[in-house]
Amino acid sequence: MSRAFNFSAGPAALPEPVLQQARNELLEWRDERASVMEISHRGKAFVACAEEAEADLRTLLSVPDDYAVLFLQGGATQHFAQIPMNIADPGQRAGYLVTGAWSQKAVSEAKPYVQADVLASTEAGSFTDVPDAGSFAATSDLAYLHYTPNETIHGVEFNEIPDAGAVPLVADFSSSILSRPIDVARHGIIYAGAQKNIGPSGLVVLIVRKDLLERGGHPKAKVLTYAAQAKDGSMLNTPPTLSWYLAGLVFKWLKDQGGLAAMEQRNRAKAELLYGAIESSGGFYRNPVAVRARSLMNVPFTLVDAALDSAFLKESEAAGLLALKGHRAVGGMRASIYNAMPIEGVQALVSFMRDFAQRHG
Ligand SMILES: *Cc1c(COP(=O)(O)O)cnc(C)c1O
Repeated sequence: MSRAFNFSAGPAALPEPVLQQARNELLEWRDERASVMEISHRGKAFVACAEEAEADLRTLLSVPDDYAVLFLQGGATQHFAQIPMNIADPGQRAGYLVTGAWSQKAVSEAKPYVQADVLASTEAGSFTDVPDAGSFAATSDLAYLHYTPNETIHGVEFNEIPDAGAVPLVADFSSSILSRPIDVARHGIIYAGAQKNIGPSGLVVLIVRKDLLERGGHPKAKVLTYAAQAKDGSMLNTPPTLSWYLAGLVFKWLKDQGGLAAMEQRNRAKAELLYGAIESSGGFYRNPVAVRARSLMNVPFTLVDAALDSAFLKESEAAGLLALKGHRAVGGMRASIYNAMPIEGVQALVSFMRDFAQRHG
């Protein structure tokens, strides 16, 4: 048996050089004569590692100085609730753009804390597009405007940042952070669960404009307060040290790859190859998403006959192409092609798809 190409939506593939480095230093990390997992998060060595990760992330995303970078826990889901707790007053309105399953969940988790108003939704079109730029307005009474730049399940991605006017724009970048450059300054908060494009699960990266940390929000425990986390370097309590260290290795790998402009080129080439194969299949494979909203990271597609799904999954797995089963909400297949998926993996998938269509078409 050998490592296969892994198209899992999350937790997802990690860059192989990162896994190799982690394996090499698993028992003895730097000069510690112990594993990175076995030392105090407050010791000099780990604090230096944590600071390096933050500095590298700031470089990769060109994070302006008036933003704090936090390394938190709870998954993106917990922050669906924690964001309104921190930056909305009780009973205040917040705007949501609903473009798929994750933005729907963001609304439902926010509802106990904020009047979550859906300003635009693409549900009537089965979440196959993003809202038109002029179809919603962020009025000044909103605590924030929330959107999901990439819908992991529906394979829908914004190619333009929504206009929030003077209202802080909050973005759940869980499945597309680091896939291309981001204009951080147009956002109030950018957050992402790590397990798609950053590292292993257990970690959430949250980038927040510092003035938002001064908002009182709701009465809440210190451990739920972003300002308190920022003040304590995200170490109010024990952070997920192994995940933080691995995220740091991924950031260094991304810098070695040439940074996010280079990653965008590669990700575009990978996505074009896959969408091209779907389009040129004569209807054997279909992707329902509007061309302007196609995701570079998650590519759902259906087969001409759903009765072929199980053969497709069985044969693809045997060919070394893992985790192509689509989400139950959408059906069919989904190929997640995050940063760690090399072009060779997409080439192998596309050639399998052509061969399968020939045999079953
Ligand atoms: C995976 C995902 C989430 C949920 O992440 P958890 O870490 O499981 O809470 C939220 N939003 C998006 C866009 C995702 O892809």
